[in-house]
Amino acid sequence: MDARRAAMLKEMGIAIWTERGAAMPEAEASQAGPQAHAAPEPPPRRAAAMPAPAGSAEVHSPQGEREQGIAMMDWPALKAAVPACTACALHASRTQTVFGVGDEQAEWLLVGEAPGGDEDRLGEPFVGQAGKLLDQMLSAIELARGRNVYIANVLKCRPPGNRNPQPEEVARCAPHLLRQIDLIKPRLILAMGRFAAQTLLATDASIASLRGKLHAYHGVPLIVTYHPAYLLRTPEDKAKSWQDLLFAVRTMQGLQSAASAPT
Ligand code: SF4
Repeated sequence: MDARRAAMLKEMGIAIWTERGAAMPEAEASQAGPQAHAAPEPPPRRAAAMPAPAGSAEVHSPQGEREQGIAMMDWPALKAAVPACTACALHASRTQTVFGVGDEQAEWLLVGEAPGGDEDRLGEPFVGQAGKLLDQMLSAIELARGRNVYIANVLKCRPPGNRNPQPEEVARCAPHLLRQIDLIKPRLILAMGRFAAQTLLATDASIASLRGKLHAYHGVPLIVTYHPAYLLRTPEDKAKSWQDLLFAVRTMQGLQSAASAPT
């Protein structure tokens, strides 16, 4: 492990043990779960049309004129539509919408739950202490906010008091995220936190059971990890999040290799 990454992990409060003499890539691989060695499916860098997975039609399928309209939007139209959106009750209590931020052609898409107080005030996802930790996590895998990374939430408006989003709110807002994914065409989605993972995967399975596996959302490979805000409250799980990041890096490398392989 290079000194810069070691320093960043120390900053994050993560202790990494390696066997004496063991090469770091193997140590990383051993921590990354059984799926870390599995060759991921070749990556379509996202086809334009995304069939909805079985069992998730209510939440994810574009249905009705509004959803179909959103599915046709380009970036400027989508960026104008979200701040004007009144499709669910959350519009009444928001300070502003939180659209998402980053490289619009990024290979990495990070998806969180919904804006919190700081995000609602500043209009940007993952700010405050949780955002700082996220930036450290990205730096540890040699990524940076806005550089080949896009960050968004499932919901674009803050639920009052940071309560859990309601199914109706998710159903109304999901077309926005779906369109963002369609426009970005990421190679890999990192679902951050239980709510984002359960929403995107249309499951009520625990985050513990979803971690360490390669899932898919509308055809895009998806990996589950903890939300930085959770890690601030539960620092003992930071090491697990590091395992998830290593798994994600190895998966991305596999996807990139598959994409560049001669056919
Ligand atoms: S949460 Fe989404 S659907 Fe609800 S008002 Fe905000 S932008 Fe519209």
